[in-house]
Amino acid sequence: MFRLDDKVILVTGAGSGIGSAIARACAGVGAYVYVTDCDAAGGRTTLTNLSSAGGAGEFLSLDVRDEKQCEAAAATVVERSGRLDVLVNNAGIGHVGDMLHTTGADLDRLYAVNVRGVFNVTRVFLPHMIHRRSGNVINMASIGAVVGVRDRLAYCATKFAVAGLTRSMALDHAGDGIRVNCVCPGRVETPFVAARLREYADPEKARAEMSSTQALGRMGRPEEIAAAVVYLASDASSFVTGTEFIIDGGWSAGK
Ligand code: NAD
Repeated sequence: MFRLDDKVILVTGAGSGIGSAIARACAGVGAYVYVTDCDAAGGRTTLTNLSSAGGAGEFLSLDVRDEKQCEAAAATVVERSGRLDVLVNNAGIGHVGDMLHTTGADLDRLYAVNVRGVFNVTRVFLPHMIHRRSGNVINMASIGAVVGVRDRLAYCATKFAVAGLTRSMALDHAGDGIRVNCVCPGRVETPFVAARLREYADPEKARAEMSSTQALGRMGRPEEIAAAVVYLASDASSFVTGTEFIIDGGWSAGK
């Protein structure tokens, strides 16, 4: 049930962190994976790691903000594989700041990737999924799509939007045989978090605080998030749609 043999999967932002772990985990259980990222070096590294572990896939350069690149990616996937079974919208960026330390440009920058990017990529693959009456979309949200997080105003705004988009799509397309879910991780050790830590005056103090937010007292590992994506991508989750799958080390348990 948890195998992904014969499934064609595309992962955005697969050149680093959680996306890279997702690509490798899916290939590890039999999927053919389109590793995509706007960072070609990162994407190719993920593909090399995936291939040397015996997985199958290829790299496509894709900036999720660029509608033309999204259309080209969909055309390539459909031409080469005939279909896309699972779309994982993982690419995302962050920003530290409350309302007074967030500019309109900061908000627009996050929105362009975290929300519009999900919209752009999903929109080009959806007609193919509807045509086949089969599809599976997994959006990377965040625990910041479930609870408010201090100093993450723009990030939470965009991730709550991802959860809203996920729920609406799940309702709109259940009748088309398409499932849509989002994943809501707590803090996970990736270059994304390392970049956030560098925005603090005392990064080590911030790291200790970030770890203690989670009941388990540590940050998650990318592989622990990838495991949930494998489940959502597999037939084991065939009755799951429209949900926020929380993997937060207990962060939100008391809220
Ligand atoms: P990361 O920075 O390690 O990796 C993000 C990847 O996305 C990079 O390879 C980057 O090149 C790519 N990317 C950025 N902008 C892009 C664009 N416009 N088009 C295509 N690719 C683009 O980050 P991560 O920690 O692995 O985060 C992945 C996802 O998980 C994000 O959506 C993030 O919001 C979410 N998330 C992360 C955490 C965490 O603590 N790390 C927690 C909750 C949610």
